[in-house]
Amino acid sequence: MITHHPKHELLELHVKGQLPASISAAISMHAEMCPLCKDKLEELTLSQSTTVFESTSSQINTADNFDMDFSNMIDSITSSDKVYIEKPVAPKSVNVRGHEYIIPRAIDKVAQSQWQNLGKLSRARLDLNEGDLHTSLLHIDPTGTVPAHTHKGFELTLLLDGSFEDELGAYTKGDFIWLTKSHTHKPETKDGCLCYTVSSNALQFTKGLARILNPIGNFIY
Ligand SMILES: [Zn+2]
Repeated sequence: MITHHPKHELLELHVKGQLPASISAAISMHAEMCPLCKDKLEELTLSQSTTVFESTSSQINTADNFDMDFSNMIDSITSSDKVYIEKPVAPKSVNVRGHEYIIPRAIDKVAQSQWQNLGKLSRARLDLNEGDLHTSLLHIDPTGTVPAHTHKGFELTLLLDGSFEDELGAYTKGDFIWLTKSHTHKPETKDGCLCYTVSSNALQFTKGLARILNPIGNFIY
């Protein structure tokens, strides 16, 4: 069961269209897996559209702006008997080290780099052009781990498939995990996992030799 959700403020910013695309995509993907947040987003969207409508409708002079010829409009809509049927689009899948995954719709059009491997970690960058905000798909093979680290900025992880755990808990598919510099953790996965990650800065390792670990940090960021 999903136990980690985006905070209410993030959902509000998402509805207002005020988040970077990478974070908005994570919220959309989470909501597709989380009925609770899907409902919240629908409520927020409704109240947001009501607010926008009320603030703009007071500026509209109905007498001047609404003298459209509605019968002409309806005629033009119904004059063609062509029926447009939307073709179902096959979901895009990706194969990482022999594991097949479906790419969520919110990111299936985003340009993606080749997969690169480092030990049990595999990473493909998503090209969203957001400067310091780096977005990737990160795959960890079964029994893989990321060395203990904290974050100079923030690290958002959306667990797309599989499971992992750290000092802060165990995570399942759909969990939306937002960590900042107040968190230190060492993620480990028994069965492997695929994550969508957004980071604003490189990892800072808290144990072990920086010169050995920094390549891993750059790899993940
Ligand atoms: Zn949720």
